Amino acid sequence: MKSIAVLGSTGSIGRASLDVVAAFPDRFHVAALAAGRSLERLARQVELHEPELVSIEREEDVPRLRALLPSEFRGRIRIVAGPAGLEEAASLPGADIVVAGLVGAVGLRSAHAAVAAGKRLALANKEALVVAGELLVAAARRSGAEILPVDSEHSAIHQALSCGKPAEVHRLVLTGSGGPLLTRDLATFEGITVDEALAHPTWKMGPKISVDSATMMNKGLEVIEAHFLFGVAPSKIDVLIHPQSVIHSFVEFVDGSLVAQMARNDMRFPILYALSHPNRLPNPFGRLDLVGVGRLEFQEVDPRRYPALGLARAALEAGGGMPAVVNAANEVAVGAFLEGKISFPDIVAVVSETAAAYGRVSGPGSLDEAEEIDRTARQSASRIARTLARAS
Ligand code: MG
Repeated sequence: MKSIAVLGSTGSIGRASLDVVAAFPDRFHVAALAAGRSLERLARQVELHEPELVSIEREEDVPRLRALLPSEFRGRIRIVAGPAGLEEAASLPGADIVVAGLVGAVGLRSAHAAVAAGKRLALANKEALVVAGELLVAAARRSGAEILPVDSEHSAIHQALSCGKPAEVHRLVLTGSGGPLLTRDLATFEGITVDEALAHPTWKMGPKISVDSATMMNKGLEVIEAHFLFGVAPSKIDVLIHPQSVIHSFVEFVDGSLVAQMARNDMRFPILYALSHPNRLPNPFGRLDLVGVGRLEFQEVDPRRYPALGLARAALEAGGGMPAVVNAANEVAVGAFLEGKISFPDIVAVVSETAAAYGRVSGPGSLDEAEEIDRTARQSASRIARTLARAS
């Protein structure tokens, strides 16, 4: 029996993780849940999974959450709050595996706490790795913790890599659907609405990652994520558009063999893999029907349509704190776009201008430094976003 802490339990990854846990009651149970402000949903999760610890964003919500719980739970479950509560959930002694399902750089400290405590980290929160990849990987090496990806592409690569030795890898190829704007007329990008950017053709996900998929910044962040997770040089990580999202990524070995992983477009598959590795459990969530899919297509990424991918790659090449700068600028820009303050093309403009304002920044030597880079880059990006908002 493995005990699981789910960080971001009311979000899309958190809910999918709890589905997986519920499907294997003799294998997994929930030790801790951490969520933000969706208290009603969280209360239902607490009732269903009976964790020992619950962490929420705001201290003032603790009495409200307690009131939402059935009386027999109120005394039994410890409720904590704020960043310290989140870290407590991430490093709970009774938990074996921590699912990092938060979105954004805000998840960095809890991901680090889990790894430092020697937990298996089932990582969906790719921004944590982008902001402080070297620190997370070094902490995992020190404690002996494993980082298992809960990102469909990286889960695919993790699986494919087991078919050869590290020195036999020719390149990693991340596939991306191209998102909802793959065939949209470039001349009309200025008018893209929030709903259009969120209408992902093959995956149902939260708003931030859906917009990142439309710009393909998501794939850029995933290139950075792959570099840190697998220790592969950036020049050996390629991206290919594959609109059907059936091949989740593949590894090309030196002998010319491509080893791909396929599964349904359902995050419960990579979650189950990350929770059960090195074993495989019978997945109750359906099977991939290749005849139903019919055809698999591939094409190159057009840099004019997806300039964000190049920005992320340039940040990885520049190294140091630049991936953190680009990530922070992107979080600010996506937030401003979702609030209707800037246009879709302005997302890339904010990221590009923020990165240009920095040029270079040395890598964070500590979590405090990583958060400082994140904070100052957000300030710069917010200024640039406000200027663009006024201009339009
Ligand atoms: Mg992905």
